Amino acid sequence: MRDFQPNTIIEPFRIRSVEPLRFTTFEERDQALRRAGYNPFLLHADEVLIDLLTDSGTGAMSSRQWAGMIASDESYAGATSFYKFEAAVRDITGFKHVLPTHQGRAAEHILFTTIARPSHVIPNNTHFDTTRAHVEHAGAEAVDLVIDAGHHPRLIHPFKGNMDLDALASVIRETGPDRIPAIMLTVTNNSGGGQPVSMANIRAVSDLAHRHGIPFFLDACRFAENAWFIKTREPGYADKAPLDIAREMFSYADGCTMSAKKDGMANIGGFLALNDDALAAQCRGLEILTEGFPTYGGMAGYDLEAIAQGLYEALDPHYLHYRIRSIAYLGDKLVAAGVPIVQPTGGHAVYLDAREMLPHIPPLQYPGWALNNALYLLGGVRGVEIGTVMFGLRPDGSEGPAAMDLVRLAFPRRVYTQSHVDYLVEVILEVYARRERLPGYRIVWQSPTLRHFTARLEPLSES
Ligand SMILES: *Cc1c(COP(=O)(O)O)cnc(C)c1O
Repeated sequence: MRDFQPNTIIEPFRIRSVEPLRFTTFEERDQALRRAGYNPFLLHADEVLIDLLTDSGTGAMSSRQWAGMIASDESYAGATSFYKFEAAVRDITGFKHVLPTHQGRAAEHILFTTIARPSHVIPNNTHFDTTRAHVEHAGAEAVDLVIDAGHHPRLIHPFKGNMDLDALASVIRETGPDRIPAIMLTVTNNSGGGQPVSMANIRAVSDLAHRHGIPFFLDACRFAENAWFIKTREPGYADKAPLDIAREMFSYADGCTMSAKKDGMANIGGFLALNDDALAAQCRGLEILTEGFPTYGGMAGYDLEAIAQGLYEALDPHYLHYRIRSIAYLGDKLVAAGVPIVQPTGGHAVYLDAREMLPHIPPLQYPGWALNNALYLLGGVRGVEIGTVMFGLRPDGSEGPAAMDLVRLAFPRRVYTQSHVDYLVEVILEVYARRERLPGYRIVWQSPTLRHFTARLEPLSES
């Protein structure tokens, strides 16, 4: 007998502890949404059937992670759990100094408070919102330099998260290297649709930075997913293990910030890792002030254990195959049915193009919001609007359309199965069939900052 290669992609785990889903009726969801001011952020999580609000901290842990958590060392200083964590981070990233933090944004806070000043510029492919906020909080300017293809939702390009190297060179020339304390690359590019960055681009950005004596940092939240895209899309990497690809990615950088709530496979945690001794010493000083002693840094010993194990599980090729493939599978079904989405699908989410799907709803009546609420009402599915409600309010109080009106459906890691995805396809196609009848919305109350989290809205007509 000869071996055979099955085509079916199965979840690379079996389930030993289950969390029941709570089903609701259409009337219950209608009531819940009214009570929540038509804002899905204000729903109770048990009113949601399939929760795709975010992939951050929402993943399922493995039996090995739980075992590590039970066996953790909760000593204040020098806990064995810290040394396990430090060894894992060093083994994967190669960076000398590892500073644990309670989340990714705490690593950003420590890094940018230490290196960035007013008049400084930090280039990135696309700053994630907390990254931008910390750069600006330090008084510096955050500049996004993703390649042009990254701005076009339907343009197919294997690495839409790449940095525009010519634009980067001009920013360095115009600003002067002494006013650029670091160049960053976000892998994968979360705010740009979860699109990957190629190894060639990482290497080129690193070369350019180092030729000008500028440190180069990765925002490494989804480093494992990025490694998988390099393996499957970039010539020369097909036979390499994700772990080795990740090591090569980090080898070009001087440090990284990380949210372990993503590819750390944990529910909380993060780290700052870097090579420079003097900078590390400065950062540790601030870490003690804001996070905690450098061998726990805002986490419990059991969190350090979960991450030490989780970082390797995120690099398991069977896991990555299942994860990236389930998202592409959803994308393929939607594209085949004519539903407009951002293509190609990225690492952690499918982005529905609500502005394209709902041309009868102008941007200032929030097509993304309308689509997301329809998904909840019809299917109990919660995504998140990434559009005019999120980005349309300017600091002077005026309002304008965001660059795009999208609904992001982000997948928690190892939580949902193939049948959940099939259900999702059915719900989205049902909403798509009724698209012409979906109402726009108006905001009845909003906060002046980050309004999407707490705003209350009203549909413009009931149909
Ligand atoms: C989530 C995220 C962060 C911030 O991490 P938190 O753990 O949420 O503080 C930073 N950068 C990117 C790209 C992210 O996705």
